[in-house]
Amino acid sequence: MCEKFIEILSKKKTWIFLIMCLMVHILNSVIFFFVGLIPLSMLNILSTIFYSVVIVSYKEDKDFYIIFTYFEISTFSLISELFSGGSFFYIFYVIGMISSVYYLLPPKKRMKQIFQGVGIVYAIAIYFVHIKEICFFPEFLPAVNLCKHEIGLLNLCITLFTLFYISNLYFFEMNAANEKLSYCSDHDLMTGLFNRRFFEHIMERNKTENENKYTIAIFDIDDFKKVNDTYGHQAGDEVLKIVSKTIEECSNDEFVTVRWGGEEFVLYMPRTDEITAYEHLEYLRKRIANTEIEFDDKKIKVTVTVGMCTGTNLTDYELVIRTADDRLYYGKRNGKNCVIK
Ligand code: GH3
Ligand code: MG
Ligand code: MG
Repeated sequence: MCEKFIEILSKKKTWIFLIMCLMVHILNSVIFFFVGLIPLSMLNILSTIFYSVVIVSYKEDKDFYIIFTYFEISTFSLISELFSGGSFFYIFYVIGMISSVYYLLPPKKRMKQIFQGVGIVYAIAIYFVHIKEICFFPEFLPAVNLCKHEIGLLNLCITLFTLFYISNLYFFEMNAANEKLSYCSDHDLMTGLFNRRFFEHIMERNKTENENKYTIAIFDIDDFKKVNDTYGHQAGDEVLKIVSKTIEECSNDEFVTVRWGGEEFVLYMPRTDEITAYEHLEYLRKRIANTEIEFDDKKIKVTVTVGMCTGTNLTDYELVIRTADDRLYYGKRNGKNCVIK
């Protein structure tokens, strides 16, 4: 539920950012109107109109929305500081944007760095407005002095909230991207099974653990080339998906199904002796042979040949796999559609 919500925030981040800017300008328009700083209120009303038009015409995440927003916030901050003699601390917005833009802009053509450079120039300019107390409308200074601490605090809070929100969203996106990458590196994306590299990595890691009897089986679809030649590669892919699903779904949770290579699968059965494993593999073989795989109004049937071997110590797992493989090829030479122990 929470994850889903954050996912939506992440997908719509530019749009949400525009809405946040709109809200801040509406709030500013009202505040400045009530403290008597009418030109600043007008400036915020202008910005409010600008954001309303952008939001209404918003179609999809495009870089220029963020670029517009970036210049609007920086220029608006500079003008507001020139109005207040550098005492409203709009510099916080510019500093906040220098880091936010890093996340909001895509990493192309050094765009992030260029915009960060622009933001730094704005921030230094605002700082000079502050220390030199440059003020374009000195007649408003008494009203500015009456509310400058509150406006400064409000600007600090808005910037801190934005930074908190954006950095956490960034963290979520990084985590999600890492999880996706790690899934892609461990799985075969077509069947969803673990891939050979991951299986070998796990077996290497567990080599030192004591293990009771375990059995490893290798499945190879019979005459699979013919399936591709007769029904097409896509039909072949569908067969691979159904066969892998059958092996996985009919096996218990402890068993590990692996896409070993093209049309070969490995089933690792921990704590399973030869008799139990053989019964299970025979069941799988018959089930696959009896399954009609539908593709484009055609019904395809395939069989598998299985080689199996039982081991007692995980340190020998490579030898167990080699033996299972030898038995598989024995089965291939002796009629296929069988389980060889
Ligand atoms: P045998 O009974 O001796 O195993 O014969 P076979 O035709 O199954 O074996 P062979 O090794 O000659 O052919 C395997 C075929 O599997 C060749 C290859 O194009 C196909 N293949 C490998 N990976 C994929 C895949 O991901 N999708 C599809 N559609 N075909 C694949
Ligand atoms: Mg093969
Ligand atoms: Mg084959």
